[in-house]
Amino acid sequence: MSELAYPYEAPASQALFDRAAAVTPGGVNSPVRAFGAVGGTPRFMVSGSGPYLTDADGREYVDLVCSWGPMILGHAHPEVIAAVQEAVARGTSFGTPAEGEVALAEAMVERVAPLEEVRLVSSGTEATMSAIRLARGFTRRTKVIKFAGCYHGHVDSLLAAAGSGVATFALPDTPGVTGAQASDTIVLPYNDLEAVHAAFAAHPGEIACVITEASPGNMGVVPPLPGFNQGLKEACAANGALFVSDEVMTGFRTSRAGWYGVEGVVPDLMTFGKVMGGGFPAAAFGGRADVMAHLAPAGPVYQAGTLSGNPVATAAGLAQLRLLDDAAYEKVDAVSAQIQSLVTEALGKEGVAHTLQTACNMFSVFFTDRPVRNYEDAKAQESFRFTAFFHSLLSNGVYLPPSSFESWFVSAAHDERAVQRIADALPAAARAAAEATA
Ligand code: PLP
Repeated sequence: MSELAYPYEAPASQALFDRAAAVTPGGVNSPVRAFGAVGGTPRFMVSGSGPYLTDADGREYVDLVCSWGPMILGHAHPEVIAAVQEAVARGTSFGTPAEGEVALAEAMVERVAPLEEVRLVSSGTEATMSAIRLARGFTRRTKVIKFAGCYHGHVDSLLAAAGSGVATFALPDTPGVTGAQASDTIVLPYNDLEAVHAAFAAHPGEIACVITEASPGNMGVVPPLPGFNQGLKEACAANGALFVSDEVMTGFRTSRAGWYGVEGVVPDLMTFGKVMGGGFPAAAFGGRADVMAHLAPAGPVYQAGTLSGNPVATAAGLAQLRLLDDAAYEKVDAVSAQIQSLVTEALGKEGVAHTLQTACNMFSVFFTDRPVRNYEDAKAQESFRFTAFFHSLLSNGVYLPPSSFESWFVSAAHDERAVQRIADALPAAARAAAEATA
């Protein structure tokens, strides 16, 4: 690792990382934070305000991660903070039902038509895990179809992303996931309806559900081809399986009603997290009332949580949803479009082959000149160019996701000053990407 690769030192962050490594595996509590894909010192942040993060060395960054999606109004939005302070003062966890949970569920149901009932949980992982259990309990079937490159949290059966081709049983992608857990997961290439039809044909009466990211953002941004989600829904309906749309990332971000609001394809079950928690651990799954009626205590499928519907988290989520009106989405979409064109302009000027893909205000850059339709396409990009691009931007006060397989996120707080900082940093980053070697 040369000095040129990581031009700015971050001594305070490095000291914290060293301390962390002594007590936490790899020094982080979620792997991508460790900068493993790009190298260098992960920045330990001490505060966030609007579109900015400030690290332990006192350096300020324009944040294009937004906590991986939740902070759609920017950091420390005054009205969200006020709602949280008001809730905290009333007590932080009751272990009983409370009105905030009802209000948040009502706000979600009002915005997303297919959501007849919701159950609140604490993380997106919990939401998808519970949705899969419910789909299996409802259909009394075991197998699940997922797509390579789609991430649904670290649910055992959904970490099986290996395997290729039609109806190939997945191998566990990580030690700790058993062959039995993985063997009930069928992993197919994204955007390939033929593969889905073939899998249903190969496993008649065995497939409980198809789970897909509503519009994937975990292999970079790879939107569904026209008709793909509708085709999934129809294939599920024709084969007695449930269609589960994972909107943990897209929910309440890509529109007022998430990706459902963009495409209008009605899933049987949906999962949510990120934006609906306002920066706190709140997530949910929901959908058809007749399916949700199978959930305990109404039905036999067990699901529970000590902190589910936590009063502080629900207050934050509700405050954020209330602020997310049409004008807020217009603002996020507009600033995202502005940054997208700055990125393509800068890379274009340096002759760097790239493809920028979008899903409303979510976007990412692939260092390839080919369209990216699935995980194989995404892996074929020149990721080494991203590393150089990333570190140049970081050095100049712009914080990108530290991996080329992630969506970039903006907020309604990204103003002209923040955009100007990005515009000023991009030419050098584009040059660094152009000059990078594998
Ligand atoms: N589903 C999708 C589409 C996600 O992007 C994520 C997280 O990034 C999850 C599920 C898991 O959510 P969490 O990290 O809150 O467990």
